[in-house]
Amino acid sequence: MSAEQFDVVIIGGGNAGIGVTGPVRRAGMSVAMIEARDLGGTCPNRGCTPKKILVAAGHALHQIERARVHKISVGKPRLDWAALIDREKSMIKDIPANLARAMAHRKVEVIAGRATFAGPNAIHVGDRVLEAKHIVIATGSKPRPLAIPGAEHMITSDEMLSERSQPPSVIFVGGGVISLEFGHVYARAGTDVTILEALPQLLPAMDADAVARLQAESERIGIRVSTMVGVKRIERANGKLRLVFTHDGVEHAAEADRVVNGAGRVADVDTLDLAKANVEQANGRVAVDAHLRSTSNPSVYVCGDALPISPQLSALATYEGDIVGRNIVEGARHSPDYEGLPTSVYTVPALASVGLTEAAARQEGLAVDVHVNDMLGWFSAKTYAETVSWSKIIVDRGNDRILGAHFVGHEGQELVNAFGLAIKFGITASQLRDVVYAYPTFSADIKHMFA
Ligand SMILES: Cc1cc2nc3c(=O)[nH]c(=O)nc-3n(C[C@H](O)[C@H](O)[C@H](O)COP(=O)(O)OP(=O)(O)OC[C@H]3O[C@@H](n4cnc5c(N)ncnc54)[C@H](O)[C@@H]3O)c2cc1C
Repeated sequence: MSAEQFDVVIIGGGNAGIGVTGPVRRAGMSVAMIEARDLGGTCPNRGCTPKKILVAAGHALHQIERARVHKISVGKPRLDWAALIDREKSMIKDIPANLARAMAHRKVEVIAGRATFAGPNAIHVGDRVLEAKHIVIATGSKPRPLAIPGAEHMITSDEMLSERSQPPSVIFVGGGVISLEFGHVYARAGTDVTILEALPQLLPAMDADAVARLQAESERIGIRVSTMVGVKRIERANGKLRLVFTHDGVEHAAEADRVVNGAGRVADVDTLDLAKANVEQANGRVAVDAHLRSTSNPSVYVCGDALPISPQLSALATYEGDIVGRNIVEGARHSPDYEGLPTSVYTVPALASVGLTEAAARQEGLAVDVHVNDMLGWFSAKTYAETVSWSKIIVDRGNDRILGAHFVGHEGQELVNAFGLAIKFGITASQLRDVVYAYPTFSADIKHMFA
C-alpha cells in the first residue's frame, strides 16, 4: 500500500481541528482532516449548542416561576420533553453538512474514519496510510472512566441530549459542570435530582463562595446535594438503578431511573497508538512544550480538549487550533495566552467566572481587595425578579488591576466578558468604574461592584 502525502494531517474535526485549518490553508499547505463521528465535534453536535437549547427551556421555566412578581398569573407549566429534544435535534442537524461544505471550500480533504498512528509521520485510517510533515492531535475528550462496580449502567451527556423521555429521577455521580447544568434543567422540569460529589465542594476549581451561592439556589429548586461521598457500586433493582455510597462513614443507598457519569472528561488520546509515533505521554496526557508541540516528536502538535494543560472550552479549542496552525506555518514560536479566560456554568441562573479565585489569590500571597456584593436589593435584580444575584471582584491592591471576577445571576455570563477583557489588557478597577455604561443594564452595575 503506498502512502498518500500531505503537509498537514489533523486528527479530529472539532473546534480545535477546524481552528488549525485557517492558517495552514492560507499558507497553501495540503491538509487532510480525519473525523470518526460528526464534523464539528462535541460543541455543536453533543455539547455547548444542544445543551444551551435545553438550558434555554430551563430559563423559560424559571421565568414562569417568577411571573407572579411581574403580576402575571400563569398555570403550572408542563414541559414536553420529547418535543424539546426534537427541537434541539432539528436546530443542530445541518451543522455537520454545513461544516463539510466550509471545509470543501477551504480545500481541506475530510476523511471519515478513526485514525491511529502508523509511525512518527504516518497515520492509518481505514485501508489508507497518510504521511505528513505535521500531524495534529485534536481528538477532544471523553467522559472520565470511573472504576465503580456497575459503572456500565451510567449514561453520559450524549444520552441526556438524545433520550426523548424525561426521567422521573436522576442521580449524578460527580458535581461538575455537566451535572449542574443538566441537573438544573431536569429539576425545573420536575425530575427528582440528586448530585453526589466526592470532594468537599461542587465545582472544586471555582470560587468557594460563588459555589456556595449556586448550591443554595440548586437546593432551593429541589436538587439534593451531598459532598464527601464515596460511591461503592451501582446495580439494577426494582426496575430502577440503585446506587450504594458512603457519607460520613455510613453506607446509604439511593434509587433513580438514571445514573449519570458527571465526573468530568479526560483527553481522548489513549487509542491513538502514540508509542508508534514516539509521542511521550504519562497518565493519558501527551507531554507538550509551550508551543503545544509534542516534547518527543517535533512533527506532532496537540490542541483543544486533547491537551492536558488548559480548560475544556470550545472557544479556547478554536484559539489553540489557530495557534497550532500558525506554529506549523511560521515555525514553533506562538504560545497560547490563558490570561482572562471567561467561563460559565450554564445553570439557571449561571455561575460565571474569570481569573483567580479568592483562595488562589491569597495562596499566591497577593495583597488584594475583595469586593463582595449581594445584589438582590439592587434595582436591576429587583426589576427582573432575580432569585440570586451575587458578585465578587478581586482587585490587586498594589496596581488596581482586576485579578478575578465571579458572579451568580445578574447576567454574570455576559458581565464576565468585560472583566475578561480587563484582565487580558490590564484595564484597572478605576478605569472600569470610569466607563459610561448604557443604562439601565446589568453592566451599568459594574460601577457599583467595587464598593
Ligand atoms: C455536554 C457538554 C457541554 C459543553 N458545554 C460547553 C459550553 O457551554 N461552553 C464551552 O466553552 N464548552 C463546552 N463544552 C466543551 C466543548 O464542547 C469542548 O471544549 C470542545 O468541543 C473541544 O473541542 P475539540 O475540537 O478539542 O474536541 P471535540 O469537539 O470533541 O472534537 C474532537 C473530534 O475528534 C474526533 N476523534 C477522536 N478520536 C479520533 C480518531 N482517533 N480519529 C478520528 N477522529 C477522532 C471526535 O469524533 C471529535 O469529533 C461542553 C462539552 C460537553 C460534553
